Amino acid sequence: IYERIDQVEEKIHAFTFQIEKDQALARAREVDARITRGERLPSLAGIPMALKDNMCTKGIPTTCSSKILDRFVPPYDATVARKLREADSILVGKLNMDEFAMGSSTENSAFFPTKNPWNLDCVPGGSSGGAAAAVAADEVIFSLGSDTGGSIRQPASFCGVVGLKPTYGSVSRYGLIAYASSLDQIGPVTKDVTDCAWVLNGIAGYDGKDSTSAEVAVPDYRECLTGEVRGMKIGIPKEYFGEGLQAEVKNAVLDAVHKLADLGAEVEEVSLPHTEYALPAYYLVASAEASSNLARYDGVRYGHRAREMQDIVSMFKRTRDEGFGAEVKRRIMLGTYALSSGYYDAYYLKALKVRTLVKQDFDRAFEKFDVLISPTAPTVAFQCGEKANDPLAMYLSDVCTIPINLAGIPAISLPCGFSHGLPVGLQMMGKAFGEEAILRAAFAYE
Ligand code: GLN
Repeated sequence: IYERIDQVEEKIHAFTFQIEKDQALARAREVDARITRGERLPSLAGIPMALKDNMCTKGIPTTCSSKILDRFVPPYDATVARKLREADSILVGKLNMDEFAMGSSTENSAFFPTKNPWNLDCVPGGSSGGAAAAVAADEVIFSLGSDTGGSIRQPASFCGVVGLKPTYGSVSRYGLIAYASSLDQIGPVTKDVTDCAWVLNGIAGYDGKDSTSAEVAVPDYRECLTGEVRGMKIGIPKEYFGEGLQAEVKNAVLDAVHKLADLGAEVEEVSLPHTEYALPAYYLVASAEASSNLARYDGVRYGHRAREMQDIVSMFKRTRDEGFGAEVKRRIMLGTYALSSGYYDAYYLKALKVRTLVKQDFDRAFEKFDVLISPTAPTVAFQCGEKANDPLAMYLSDVCTIPINLAGIPAISLPCGFSHGLPVGLQMMGKAFGEEAILRAAFAYE
């Protein structure tokens, strides 16, 4: 792994921080020695992996790819980091992202952009671009990303790997630096569906430290990797195949649907009529929550503090001005505006109502279907710089993934072909806690 990282990292730039080689190797040798002694170890033992840099790691810098958290070293582990450490996985480093997970290309990182391993002129997607690129470039065996509106699935799609956003509440958010708390969810980025099930086994489960954690029994997700989809009901939501979708992407996704039909699945079109309102509702809800969550970065409690100041208010102002990038500031302003007393009902409250309608669309569809299939993104990876100065165009690359977060349901992205030498991603959505159905369908397709 370290040889591979040495070979490719200077071109990919997936890592914001690497654990010293000797330290990681020492841990790996310890695991080897225990295996030689005949000890039974957890299933992820000895596996090299890395975490998106918005998951707290005790004693290891955690920056959210933001200047405001530069040199912040958490005094505790996120629950996922603890679980993987206790499972004897080997942490190799922390992964680059759009600042505070706001973006779809990893170009909003305050440090440097990450490149797409398939074509270095293209973006890896985002905001978990480092997590997807590191797995695609074989720098780690798996990684964890976070997904608020598509940030695991869209980069997985752009980089030709598998990414799962689990049901809201099924993986603990404790120690995940909050962007939009009612939408954020941690999930695995892996090379294939089998690894996805293994990693999900390792991180899912109730956590008393996360008040939104669900008290539901965690199945062994590996048991749904049977290859059997006969009789499974698959819905094709027609709103996801409209304008803006590249023809090659559409064809690759429909070919995949045909393959599943050949394997015995029953396929039918379905309508999710409120889909077009999901994107504007998301950007209001997410920005509103972000403006509140990011109020804590004031130069007193964490990370960066402005040097020049007259009094405490100018210290707050300068710290936030110097520490946050343009996109983060845009979201804070948008969110503050949407929550302000004169506009609350017109924007924030309206967005919450739309959110309910979007969720009800899915509830209705899942009365009939086990899984819904769509493209993960309307296009393959775009060129670096292409959308960097056009926030609206950037927001549109998440149209297919955002409704899923509003509804809190799980969805996976997996590769389903190529267009112009770049991977195409297929999205499978399931009902809440329906990870088994989507893993079953995904494994059968793969
Ligand atoms: N691109 C979306 C945003 O910028 C989604 C990001 C995410 O899922 N973290 O908000």
